[in-house]
Amino acid sequence: MSKQGTVRVVNGRYKFSGEFHHATPNTPITNDDEGGKLVGVTNPRDMTYVHTYGGEAVFFEGLGKGILYGTRCDNPKCEFTGTQYIPFRIHCPDCLGRNTVVDFTKTCRTTATVHTFMVCERSGAFNVLDKPIKFINIEFEGVGTILMSYLSLGEPTIGMKVVPIFRTTDPTFTITDLSWVPEGADEGDLPDGFTFG
Ligand SMILES: [Zn+2]
Repeated sequence: MSKQGTVRVVNGRYKFSGEFHHATPNTPITNDDEGGKLVGVTNPRDMTYVHTYGGEAVFFEGLGKGILYGTRCDNPKCEFTGTQYIPFRIHCPDCLGRNTVVDFTKTCRTTATVHTFMVCERSGAFNVLDKPIKFINIEFEGVGTILMSYLSLGEPTIGMKVVPIFRTTDPTFTITDLSWVPEGADEGDLPDGFTFG
């Protein structure tokens, strides 16, 4: 197989290298009701999507280092100045000003509780999480929003105290690098690659 496409930014420009399209052999579609007569062909297509994080890049980079960044509106003219946001919001929804990036790791370690949850036995295409997936909505002291994530140990209950864990070994730089476990969980029980940060 040819080299998987990779992207770097050099002198402010995206530089592409490797292959972004892979030719995969097709297969015939036959009609078994009519003695295997040809109906058509499958056309496999392998696509590499180039996804830019923009102002949220600092959040995804932080996860692999065991840091959970959120943001805060510091605009003194904003009606809701001082409002804090997890998940990360680049701009304040009230004044549309650029928010300040804030390290909320300690807040998350000490004040996170499950607001509500749902357990999913089935998933969509390309799911990488173990099933059943225990999705939890987490609230934090002094934070105006609620974070959607997933619980890696135990069973969720409303109001339970949880602490963050981070994929600090081989991070994927996606939201699955952040997960949660019940307060008091043992580091030895964490999923492969995850630590308390
Ligand atoms: Zn604002």
